[in-house]
Amino acid sequence: MSNLKGKLFLLIGPSGVGKGTIIKNLKKQHKNWVFPVSVTTRKKRPGEKEGKTYYFYSKEKFEKQKKEGAFLEWACVHGKNYYGLLKKTVFDALKKGKVVFREIDIQGFESVREIVPKENLVSIFLLPPSLELLEKRIRERSPLTDEEVANRLKSAKKEISLAKECTYQVQTVNLEIEKGVKDIENIVFSELADKS
Ligand code: 5GP
Repeated sequence: MSNLKGKLFLLIGPSGVGKGTIIKNLKKQHKNWVFPVSVTTRKKRPGEKEGKTYYFYSKEKFEKQKKEGAFLEWACVHGKNYYGLLKKTVFDALKKGKVVFREIDIQGFESVREIVPKENLVSIFLLPPSLELLEKRIRERSPLTDEEVANRLKSAKKEISLAKECTYQVQTVNLEIEKGVKDIENIVFSELADKS
């Protein structure tokens, strides 16, 4: 896979830490970066559009694409819904030398690093200020049952224990988005400078 000229940046971190908002900001500011749209079997949330936040597939369609080898990785997140990153979008962009930016769960990252060469992959783990603040944010964000919150916190603890496996760890301060965006931009620019 030595024909890959670009870099794939993966943003990893527990549910509620602010990955989605950070990516929304990066998208506005970096029109030349590629933000691949993943596939999910979860239900569409209000305001979400097909092909914008995700491609929303039935479990059957997801399974079919999985069998056909369409995914670079796939995972069952929070023990419930399936998510998958489409191989073609990522590799087409990497071949063109693009910055490719995607949020992903830790299992997805573990699969991707088996496939994408080290020199083309950068992983950034977004750490919450505390588990208490994370829980508050998860509860505020959407109505979840206590069981669902407990599930997300269980995943969060597991994910945080694996943060050191990522290339970078970014500590969020009171979940301030602007600082997170700046920190991540600095990582991308320094990684690109390193290459030249
Ligand atoms: P949400 O449904 O709230 O958008 O995302 C739930 C979780 O799925 C987040 O932790 C997010 O990082 C993860 N996720 C989103 N897209 C992908 C993907 O393409 N692959 C994997 N493995 N996880 C993903």
